[in-house]
Amino acid sequence: MKPSHIEHIGIAVSNLTAAIDLYEKLFGLKCYNIEEVPDQKVKTAFFKVGETKIELLESTDPESSIGKFIATRGEGIHHIAFAVNDIEKQLKHAEEIGIRLIDARPRKGAEGLDIAFLHPKSTSGVLIEICEDKNK
Ligand code: ZN
Repeated sequence: MKPSHIEHIGIAVSNLTAAIDLYEKLFGLKCYNIEEVPDQKVKTAFFKVGETKIELLESTDPESSIGKFIATRGEGIHHIAFAVNDIEKQLKHAEEIGIRLIDARPRKGAEGLDIAFLHPKSTSGVLIEICEDKNK
């Protein structure tokens, strides 16, 4: 049941190119993947920091959740993703202990992961993503 690690930290940015440039210059990291997720109306860019990734998120539509987030709160940390071994079981457990779910069942996210979000109203204001790599 325990997550194996923090899979990634999602950061909402208004300009993906500028943000990629920042992480490359600041830490000498190399962006290894840029991917558009049409379903969520975002463009994502990934960096590896040990086992954890930084996921930069730029909205492709002002009505998307990232677009609305930036409009109301500005750029910043958007969510934290925990890697789990059995996402269905973890979701069920979250529901059983009274956590409000955004996704009642997992869906496909960036990098082919199965993902689901928990509602920040139930989790001390943090948007928590749980994810499982079923391709492993
Ligand atoms: Zn994410």
